[in-house]
Amino acid sequence: MNKVVLMGLLFGVAATGLNAQDNDGIFSYKIGHFEIYILVESERDGNADILVGADKSLLDSLLPAGGFKHTANAILVKAPAQNFLIDTGTGSGGIIIEKIKKLGVEPSSVDAVLLTHLHGDHFGSLQSGGEAVFPKAKVYLSAKEHEYFTKTNVNRAAAAALDPYGSHVVTFDPAALDAAPHEILPGIHPIAAYGHTPGHTLYLLESGGEKLLVAGDLLHVALVQFAHPEISATYDMDQKEAAAVRRQVLEYAAANNITLAGMHIVYPGTGKVTKDGDGFKFTPSSPQ
Ligand SMILES: [Zn+2]
Repeated sequence: MNKVVLMGLLFGVAATGLNAQDNDGIFSYKIGHFEIYILVESERDGNADILVGADKSLLDSLLPAGGFKHTANAILVKAPAQNFLIDTGTGSGGIIIEKIKKLGVEPSSVDAVLLTHLHGDHFGSLQSGGEAVFPKAKVYLSAKEHEYFTKTNVNRAAAAALDPYGSHVVTFDPAALDAAPHEILPGIHPIAAYGHTPGHTLYLLESGGEKLLVAGDLLHVALVQFAHPEISATYDMDQKEAAAVRRQVLEYAAANNITLAGMHIVYPGTGKVTKDGDGFKFTPSSPQ
C-alpha cells in the first residue's frame, strides 16, 4: 500500500493518486448520455479556521500535519441536445472559459447555466464588462436564492452577474430531498439544501438509469466534514441548518449509492459516499 493510499484511508477519504496538476484540472465522468467534466478553477492551501466548533485534537487527527488543499470547481455537462454549466467559478483568469473551450464548447454554445447559489465563487464567470459571457444561455437558480440576494439582502456583484441575462434568468422552487423530484431540464432535478445560503440548491442529474448528485457547497473541508457532518463552516449562513442538511444529504447519497460531486471537493471532485460509524467516508471516483 503506498503512502498516499494509506493517508487517505487514515483520514476517511480514500485517495486515488489522481491530482489536478497531472490532469489539466479536468476530470471526466459519464452517466448515461451525460458527459460530465469537473473543471478545477483553482487549487490552494486549505484553512481549517473556517470550521466552526471543531476542536484542535479532532482536526489534528483528521488533517495531515503538512496541510491540505482547497479547490474551486465548476462543472460542464454535455447532454445530447445541449451543453450546460453548473456554477461558473470566480471568473478569475478566465480559467473556466478556457477549460470549456478546450473541451470543444464555445461560451456562445452554452445553453444553460445552473447555479447552486449566489456566492462569488459560483457566479463569477457569468458576466464580463457588463456583457453576458454566455449570450444564449438561460440562467437557472432557486427563487429563494434570487429573492434573497437581489432583493432582501442585495449582493451587488450577484445582481450585476444576472443583469445581462434579463428575461433569460429562470427561477424555480427546488423539491425537498424526500419529495418526488421535478425536472427543470431533461434529466436535471433541483433539490433544496438550504443553510449554506437561504436558497442553496443541489442538482440531481439522471441519465440512462445512472445518477450524479451535484452538491454545491454542502461541504468545504472534505477531510473533516464527511466524517463529521455536524461541523459547519463560517461560510454557512445558517450553520445549524447547514449541518442538518449536510447529514441528511450524505445519508441519502449513501443509502441510494449515488455518486456525489462538490464545488470544493478536491480533484477529481466526485466520488462515492458510504456510512462509517456516526459519519461517512468518501471514496473519490476513478477515471472511467
Ligand atoms: Zn463556494
